[in-house]
Amino acid sequence: MNRSVYLDYAATTPVAPVVLDAMIPYFSQQYGNAGSNQHIFGWEAADAVDQARKTIAAYFSIKPNAVLFTSGATESNNLGILGLLENESPGHIISSAIEHKAVLEPMAYLASKGWDVTYLLPNEFGEISLEQIQAARKLNTRLVSIMWVNNEIGTVSDISGIAQWCQKEGIYCHSDATQALGKLDIAQSCLPDLLSFSAHKIFGPKGIGALLVKEGIALQARQFGGSQERGLRAGTLPVPLIVGLAKAFEGIPQLLAYLPAIEAIKSDLESLFKENLGHRIVFNSVSKNQIPHILNFSITGLDWERLFRSMPLLALSNGSACNSKSTFPSHVIKALGRDDETALSSVRISLSHLYLMEDHEWVKNYFIQSLQKLLI
Ligand code: PMP
Repeated sequence: MNRSVYLDYAATTPVAPVVLDAMIPYFSQQYGNAGSNQHIFGWEAADAVDQARKTIAAYFSIKPNAVLFTSGATESNNLGILGLLENESPGHIISSAIEHKAVLEPMAYLASKGWDVTYLLPNEFGEISLEQIQAARKLNTRLVSIMWVNNEIGTVSDISGIAQWCQKEGIYCHSDATQALGKLDIAQSCLPDLLSFSAHKIFGPKGIGALLVKEGIALQARQFGGSQERGLRAGTLPVPLIVGLAKAFEGIPQLLAYLPAIEAIKSDLESLFKENLGHRIVFNSVSKNQIPHILNFSITGLDWERLFRSMPLLALSNGSACNSKSTFPSHVIKALGRDDETALSSVRISLSHLYLMEDHEWVKNYFIQSLQKLLI
């Protein structure tokens, strides 16, 4: 075998064939602008957008107008957090040190405007608890923003419990659910006031996502020039991408059915590394509350660049795709209390059902042969 094996499904996924088929007509046949309400081309496009909005709303059992289409989770996080608070007089926010940059940077921006932001540190397993949030709460706490699933280590937070507590206390609650969708049955949970996600992590296209906004939550637009999305997100709607997002949602129950098979692959890889690397391997994804798709480890004395160069046929990651050009130690692994060297040498394997079609025995042998060459 001399082709690459993809082990980076947390960075992005391919578009599923059924999703692509659903999108194609909207590029070249039903190409109307959903805002052109004077003719059939526009009506067809608007119908497709309405239908997509209904599909996503039905998945979460919410009203269709609670779904705002955006370019993805980065924009959803920015619109949700800044659209809620930027024009308010500063108060206190609780977030965590292991959030994605798409939350950390809007938080840093608010901090520069006088907001007081508490970044909760996870325990050694990468877990953030409701008790920590309750302890950090101040009289002027306005927002709690905690990611549902961490993108580097896969740890799951109890967003349902956090959202319920926030609701009781009159504190806004936001969650970045980008890595939770399709990996956990989040539709059954109590949803926060604001929820962000992207299509390209669930076999949908890149460049589309949504922000779910609970009724009664007043957001301010951050982009001007059109009245689309209730005036909150100006710009022509990307109809093919929206259709693709909704089609990807239809595949979520199937994705969830693969969880046991993915769990089995992950524990097999874990045992393989334990057997072959002994005390040199440090697992960074060790919580009992975690999705099975992500396995993160560091090998002492080995930096990720050497490791990646030794395995050119495996598409691995050193954490977040958005950070992979940086040589800084991962802020997530550092937050677990690991030293710089361990954080710099972290490797993330992220799986999906498509990996189940790969030659797993070949991958295991390739891993071990490459590691043995490196470590002698
Ligand atoms: N949040 C999390 C947890 C993510 O994993 C990602 C993608 N790496 C994002 C936000 C950003 O998503 P996008 O690039 O699609 O806007």
